[in-house]
Amino acid sequence: MKSVEIAGGGIGGLAMGAMLARDGWKVRIHERDDAVREVGAGIYIKNNSIEVLEDLGIFERMIPLGTKLEKAQIQFADGSVRQERQLEGLSRVHVFPRQVVVEALLEAAKGFGAEVVLNSQVAGATPQGVLKMANGEQCQADLIVGADGVNSAIRSSLDMKSGFKLLPTIIDRFLIDSREFTREPKTVEHWSGNRRIGVTPSGDGQTYVYMVAPESDRAARVMPLDVEDWSRRFPLLAGLMRELGAVPDATQFNYGIVHCEHWSRGRVAIIGDAAHGLPPTLGQGAGLTLINAYALAHHLRKEPDVERALSEWERNVRFISDATQAWSRRYDSFTRQWPTKLDFMRPLITWSFGHVKSLNDRMRIADRGLRTAGIEIGGGGGHAG
Ligand SMILES: Cc1cc2nc3c(=O)[nH]c(=O)nc-3n(C[C@H](O)[C@H](O)[C@H](O)COP(=O)(O)OP(=O)(O)OC[C@H]3O[C@@H](n4cnc5c(N)ncnc54)[C@H](O)[C@@H]3O)c2cc1C
Repeated sequence: MKSVEIAGGGIGGLAMGAMLARDGWKVRIHERDDAVREVGAGIYIKNNSIEVLEDLGIFERMIPLGTKLEKAQIQFADGSVRQERQLEGLSRVHVFPRQVVVEALLEAAKGFGAEVVLNSQVAGATPQGVLKMANGEQCQADLIVGADGVNSAIRSSLDMKSGFKLLPTIIDRFLIDSREFTREPKTVEHWSGNRRIGVTPSGDGQTYVYMVAPESDRAARVMPLDVEDWSRRFPLLAGLMRELGAVPDATQFNYGIVHCEHWSRGRVAIIGDAAHGLPPTLGQGAGLTLINAYALAHHLRKEPDVERALSEWERNVRFISDATQAWSRRYDSFTRQWPTKLDFMRPLITWSFGHVKSLNDRMRIADRGLRTAGIEIGGGGGHAG
């Protein structure tokens, strides 16, 4: 029986653990926290994520805990709809409270026999397959997976010509217990100058809101929210702003991007945000994480030599993540840096991104899952107990 030690019990580590345990590997997942929990509010789960979650046999159970969206709109502050996309087929999207996703994956990983060790901090790894723990212990395995997020200790320990850079955009996220502002199953991104507010239902009784602004916009950075300032910029959302102003535990982050020249060294693979962390403008971080984990399991099934399997995996699927990272950065720059004096051109550009199919296909390549890499998701071999 082959063995794998996985650093990180987030979406990437749990999904990878579930898939390899299902394939008969001895799996151990190390999570540094005392529980498997997600920071942040809601999450868009797009077609590529759904295909993997369906294959793991957990998506059906998740559906009632989230909302299936019918359309996505971009609205300017005056309420005019400047882009509308129907979310069906390969563009389907559900929104969930984040905790729903990790708990479903945790259940799957354990159901397939993976061991999850909490309070277990990893310090690094060697290309020969040794996992080094922060307490000085070491363990040898056939494969080490670094799924330990943007500041990955595994990645740093391997001199992979890599790094994590913060971008000058901030994002606040809220999950509120109300559907007053999201009665329809649609997600709306409201634009006003260089600020954006996304509002979307997230299950029967909750609404997920994200608010984005350039870091240089001092009023936008104030926490708790400067309700008056945001309401002036988004008058139609003044009621929602009042509600958000009363939320005590909102989170504020900078966008960030991970550059990682190689996703593997020897017997060590880096997956998820550790390999390709990206601005969340396309809502695809978890999607890429899940399809790359799926593809890795696929290549390990096809090629018994672990090191060769890792090289083939990266060669075969990396282009999807690279393209998505590049587009997510362009989207961030476009929305953050667009000069006010060129505002008159924005509606046309926004419209064309929604309607020109070839442009959309390129920007949203990740929505199509692993098809573009010649891998069909499904028939992976059974469901979690
Ligand atoms: C603001 C924002 C909004 C987003 N919205 C979306 C969205 O709508 N849709 C989408 O698909 N994606 C979205 N994403 C991206 C998505 O959240 C991530 O891509 C995904 O969570 C990555 O999962 P991961 O497991 O690779 O990393 P993480 O979620 O960061 O998990 C890493 C885990 O490893 C643990 N860990 C870290 N270091 C160690 C260590 N040394 N030892 C042991 N354990 C360790 C951490 O505690 C954590 O549990 C968003 C991201 C952000 C920042």
